[in-house]
Amino acid sequence: MTLTSDTRTNPHSTPLTGLRDLVDGAVHLEGEDGYAELVASWNLAVAMAPRAVVAAETADDVAATVRFAGRHGLQVGVQATGHGAVASLAGDILVSTKLLDEVHVDANGWARIGAGCKWSQVLPQAHKLGFAALNGSSSDVGVVGYLTGGGVGVMARTYGVSADSVRAFEVVTGDGELRRATPDEHPDLFFGLRGGKGSLGIVTSVEIDLIPMTHFYGGALFYDGAHVAEVTALWNRWAADLPESITTSFAVLQLPPLPGIPEPLAGRTTLSVRFLSTGDPLEAEDLLTPLREIAPTILDSIGLHPYPAVDLVHTDPVDPMPVTEQTVLLRELPYAAVEQLVRHITTGTPHVITEIRQLGGAYAREPRHPDAFDHRDARYSVFLAGIAGVPGTIERGAELLAALQPWAHQGMWPNFYSARDAKSAAAAYTPATLARLRATASAYDPAGVLTMGAAIRS
Ligand SMILES: Cc1cc2nc3c(=O)[nH]c(=O)nc-3n(C[C@H](O)[C@H](O)[C@H](O)COP(=O)(O)OP(=O)(O)OC[C@H]3O[C@@H](n4cnc5c(N)ncnc54)[C@H](O)[C@@H]3O)c2cc1C
Repeated sequence: MTLTSDTRTNPHSTPLTGLRDLVDGAVHLEGEDGYAELVASWNLAVAMAPRAVVAAETADDVAATVRFAGRHGLQVGVQATGHGAVASLAGDILVSTKLLDEVHVDANGWARIGAGCKWSQVLPQAHKLGFAALNGSSSDVGVVGYLTGGGVGVMARTYGVSADSVRAFEVVTGDGELRRATPDEHPDLFFGLRGGKGSLGIVTSVEIDLIPMTHFYGGALFYDGAHVAEVTALWNRWAADLPESITTSFAVLQLPPLPGIPEPLAGRTTLSVRFLSTGDPLEAEDLLTPLREIAPTILDSIGLHPYPAVDLVHTDPVDPMPVTEQTVLLRELPYAAVEQLVRHITTGTPHVITEIRQLGGAYAREPRHPDAFDHRDARYSVFLAGIAGVPGTIERGAELLAALQPWAHQGMWPNFYSARDAKSAAAAYTPATLARLRATASAYDPAGVLTMGAAIRS
């Protein structure tokens, strides 16, 4: 298309319909049919409002969109599922990767996965060939969004940060070029795409190593909320001595009485101890004895399960909902910190989920190829989720995080607190990583076309 003097001086008046001639996928402008469905986020509290959304069908569609935006001084964001949606990163044009849904599982133990896939599209295919993957707590989350944020999953203490399993990315950088990033090809991109999320490019597919594993021993023990003080204190002492073959967390849940919520958990406060063992099931069962003895359980899903059933460990919500999240990493969790958590829970917090994950083990080890996921010295993560707009939610969360400050690690996980400005970028990355991400973003996207790359450089 031809630039008019108007579009040169004001990129926001660029007619985006011109993009339709350049891509195979549909381009929906604001207000048109198909637009609302594609920009919708899993988190209903976040409204993504780009001027247009492109349903990319190929990597070339992504590249053409980025080049079009670059020519017209526009910005581009990316979304797969909207589980990690940030409104300010939508840009003028949002690339929806939903249709990039290729899954190839190789019998030699690796997989190639399109950027639009959720883990739930990968796990059953991997299982058929005897493999598991390093997914997170919910298989409803997008593979690429999760891996580019590092990814701390259900086997993190055994197999480490999930991004460490990445072999290669196909990625469109902000200059509109489609590139392959591996330890040997564009190693600066390979470094930054494992932790830097969408700051360095729009990934179109990823190749990962799989784990030879068909079943896991684990699930969750649920207790009535009345037992929160003793179970939490026990979990804390008990978890400290666990082998690396076990990854565990606990969560206090206040789930509404809605369809789909199991009756014993609905409309009350409950406590869930999550457990996944990659070791011998009998030994793992023995380790659970103190937790089974401390209080009666109201639900118990611990057992030997096929790997694709792994969501039953965390029982995360699947349906879209309006969520507000607060989070902090901890250096340690002494009894005084447990007391603060118990006080938060037993004094009427509105949070739907108050979760503590134990880290350490393989999570703490540096990867074979350095990456942009920092804060491996954190020992616990605390994550609070509430229903957006419920009075007191933000305030009560802020009170707890303040009370935990004596033990706080100053970093944040990119997946739980995505970098979107200088403050969040400084929390997600160490100064050295951030400097490297900024330099790489400037090199591959000099015009600042990608919203997240531009945001962390500001
Ligand atoms: C219920 C739930 C459970 C979760 N559990 C875990 C967990 O156990 N461990 C963990 O580490 N995280 C977890 N997360 C966080 C999750 O990993 C991040 O929110 C992740 O970004 C979601 O990716 P998505 O593609 O599904 O989301 P989207 O909202 O579609 O994408 C979020 C961001 O990911 C990046 N991104 C997405 N697609 C691309 C792409 N093609 N190229 C480059 N960047 C891209 C962009 O920065 C984008 O803004 C959880 C989130 C939820 C809601």
